[in-house]
Amino acid sequence: MSEPDPAGVRFLDRRAGQCAWPLWGEDVPLGDKRCCGRSIPLERSYCAQHRARGTSRGTPSERAADQTLLTRAAKDTLSCVSEK
Ligand SMILES: [Zn+2]
Repeated sequence: MSEPDPAGVRFLDRRAGQCAWPLWGEDVPLGDKRCCGRSIPLERSYCAQHRARGTSRGTPSERAADQTLLTRAAKDTLSCVSEK
């Protein structure tokens, strides 16, 4: 039931616990951007498949920027949900 359709989810609709791997190309309007959307643990940004691919994608600074934003978003979400 929780499996996304093959085209992923809209990036704007992505929630914590969904893979944020970008599927869009260049020149795609923000509202049309879709990401992987597979169910993942909340502390992750990408599913296992895409984490493996992420090590060879983009420039280090691009990946760092992504990780900074995603980590911040994840922490915000986690702090609202629960604390151990
Ligand atoms: Zn993924």
